[in-house]
Amino acid sequence: MDLVEILPDILPDRLHMFRFPIGQAYLWCDGEELTLIDAGHKDAAADIEEAVRGLGLRPENIRRIVLTHCHRDHVGAAGELARRYGAEVVAHRLDAPVIRGEQPVPEPVLLDWERPLYAHGLTVEPAPATRVDREAEDGDLLGFGDGARAVHAPGHTDGSMAVRLPHHGVLFTGDCVAGVGQVMLGVFNTDRERALESFRRLARSPPPSPASATATRLTHGTDAVLRASADRGSGLQVEHG
Ligand SMILES: [Zn+2]
Repeated sequence: MDLVEILPDILPDRLHMFRFPIGQAYLWCDGEELTLIDAGHKDAAADIEEAVRGLGLRPENIRRIVLTHCHRDHVGAAGELARRYGAEVVAHRLDAPVIRGEQPVPEPVLLDWERPLYAHGLTVEPAPATRVDREAEDGDLLGFGDGARAVHAPGHTDGSMAVRLPHHGVLFTGDCVAGVGQVMLGVFNTDRERALESFRRLARSPPPSPASATATRLTHGTDAVLRASADRGSGLQVEHG
């Protein structure tokens, strides 16, 4: 295990984060049933399997892979893992044709300071064409996490989606939100204004239910940070523009 850093203690027994040299993925556990949120780069399957086993879990129990959007560092290993374990691949309707390889990956409108970062991101190999079994729409139940729902959050790509687990107070933001020391609007957006709208919508969403003490503690902090960042509004551009 040298390509994946496991951050296992976000919500012990429930939520784990796998961090790759570029990009990250999350593992959600409903008992033995596992859901991957994003799937790392093209060659990450073996590392993800090893990471799952390292947590004392079975990759054979990966039931679904939810892709937050069509980018290579999120889709990469999804097809291979889905094939191996018969997992369902879920993505938003508008990014599904890109993930399947039927449409080109949309070009972002880059700010000057984003260009070197973007070039670095392209050192990851493109994702292979990947089947999508289910196309999600805003508000759809996704079948895990005691009521996980898709939240359409366009702007990074047209079909970017966040995933909210109200029962657990967890929000997977995909690349709509970046957390690099500070919480800020994600980079490499195809439509920065729409991305900012999505960011604000996520920040305004109702706070999580207090169903889980641990999760609530975690996300109260996160929600507050997200709201504060959205409130800074144009600051998001000024800080880095
Ligand atoms: Zn992305």
